[in-house]
Amino acid sequence: MDISYPAEVESFRAEVRAVLAEELPPGWPGIGAIAVREEAERFAARWRRVLYRRGLLGITWPPEYGGRGLSRLHQVVLVEELARAGVPLGEHTDLFGLKMLGSTLLRWGTAEQRRWFLPRILSGTDRWCQGFSEPDAGSDLAALATRAVLDGSQWVIDGQKIWTSVAHRANWIFLLARTDPRRRGHAGLSFLLCPLDQPGIEIRPIRQLTGEIDFNEVFFAGARTAAINVVGPPGEGWPVAMTLLGHERGEEAATNPILFRAELDRLLTLAAERGRDRDPLIRQRLAWCYARVEIMRYLGYRILTQLGSGTDLGPAASAAKLYWSEYHVAATELALDIQGLDGLVPQGRGPLRAVRTDDPGAPNSSGSWLGAFCNARAGTIYAGTSEVQRNILAERVLGLPREQRHG
Ligand SMILES: Cc1cc2nc3c(=O)[nH]c(=O)nc-3n(C[C@H](O)[C@H](O)[C@H](O)COP(=O)(O)OP(=O)(O)OC[C@H]3O[C@@H](n4cnc5c(N)ncnc54)[C@H](O)[C@@H]3O)c2cc1C
Repeated sequence: MDISYPAEVESFRAEVRAVLAEELPPGWPGIGAIAVREEAERFAARWRRVLYRRGLLGITWPPEYGGRGLSRLHQVVLVEELARAGVPLGEHTDLFGLKMLGSTLLRWGTAEQRRWFLPRILSGTDRWCQGFSEPDAGSDLAALATRAVLDGSQWVIDGQKIWTSVAHRANWIFLLARTDPRRRGHAGLSFLLCPLDQPGIEIRPIRQLTGEIDFNEVFFAGARTAAINVVGPPGEGWPVAMTLLGHERGEEAATNPILFRAELDRLLTLAAERGRDRDPLIRQRLAWCYARVEIMRYLGYRILTQLGSGTDLGPAASAAKLYWSEYHVAATELALDIQGLDGLVPQGRGPLRAVRTDDPGAPNSSGSWLGAFCNARAGTIYAGTSEVQRNILAERVLGLPREQRHG
C-alpha cells in the first residue's frame, strides 16, 4: 500500500526539514552518537528549547493554548522527520505533561485550567509526573489509599505513591486520591493537580539494579493544593484518569512504529555486521519483526482516522499498547541473540529514553541493546500490564464475561 500525505502536510514536512537544517550542525549523526549520558541529556534539554522556540511542541493543541491546531497526521510527519534526523521529540517529563496531562486537560479541564497549565507545559515551566500507583494499588488502581480532604480553599493530601517516574525532575504531580471515604472502588476518587515543592511532600528516589534512577516514592503528609486544582467534578476523577491512561497507552500508536522502524534498521545492520544475516533462523525472526512493525504502522493509521483532538481512545489504546510492548520484548531478545556472548557485557551507554526504543544514531554497542532489552520488559508493565490490557480487550471488545473480582 502506498500512502501519500495531503499537500499541506507535505509542506509542513518541508518546514520541519528547514528547521532541522538550520538548527543542527552539518553531518549531525544523531543523539545516540553522544557517548556520555550526561552530555546526551544536556543536548536533549537544549533541543527541547529549540522545538519550543520553533513552534514544534504540542502542534495539535489549539492556538489559544500555544499550539498550532494542526492534525495528527502533521504530528506523524513531525516524528518521521525528527526520527530521521536522530533528535528526541522532547524530554522524559514531556511524556507526562505534553502527552498525558495536556491531552486530558483538553478533554476535561476548565477554561481556566487550560489557559493556565497548557502554555506552561509547552514552555517547560511546569514539568509533570504521574501519581497513580501505590504500594497496594497497581493493576487494581481503585484500591488506592491516598486521601484528600477539602480545608477551606485547599485540598489537604495524605498518603503514598510509588514508581513515580521522573518525580525527581518534576515540579508538579497529577494524582488520584480518595476524597469521599463513604464511597468505594471507582466512586469517590478525585483527579488532583499538586505542586511538588512544599514541606508536605517528600520524594525518595528508587535506585535500580543498573545504578540509574528513573522512578521514586512520593510521600504526602498534609500536602496542600488549591481547591480549584481538581480536574472533573470532585469524587468523579475515575473517567478523567481513564482518559489519561488512554493517552498514555495509545497516543503514540501512529508515531511509535516510526521509531521502531529506525531501531529495526539498526538491528538489520547489526545482523549484517555480525554475519548473522545469512542464518535462516535469524532471517526468519528479522522478517517477523519487519511484518510486525508494518502492521503496527497500519494499526496506527487506523487509530489516527478514528481520532479527533480531545477524544477518548477507548480499547483501541489497549490493543496498540499490548502490540508494541510485546513486539519490543521479542525484537530486543533477537538483538541479544545476534550479539551472542558480547551482548552480556555492557559497553557504551544505554538508551536515553529508558522505557522506549533505542536512541537514533547509536552505534551497535552491547550497552545500548542490553539497556533496550531490559527496558522492553518495563513496557509490558507500565500503563497497565499485558494481562490487564488483555482483560480490557476480552471484556470491552469481545464482550466476554467480566472476570471474577475478589475482595
Ligand atoms: C518503568 C515503569 C514506570 C512506571 N511509572 C509509573 C508512574 O510514573 N506513575 C505511576 O503511578 N505508576 C508507574 N508505574 C507503575 C505501574 O503502573 C505498575 O507497575 C503497574 O500498573 C502494575 O502494578 P503493580 O506493579 O502493583 O503490579 P500488580 O498489580 O501487583 O501485578 C502483579 C502481577 O499480577 C498480574 N495481575 C494483576 N491483576 C491481574 C488481573 N486482574 N488479571 C490477570 N493478571 C493480573 C499483573 O499483570 C502482574 O503480572 C511504572 C512502572 C514501570 C515498570
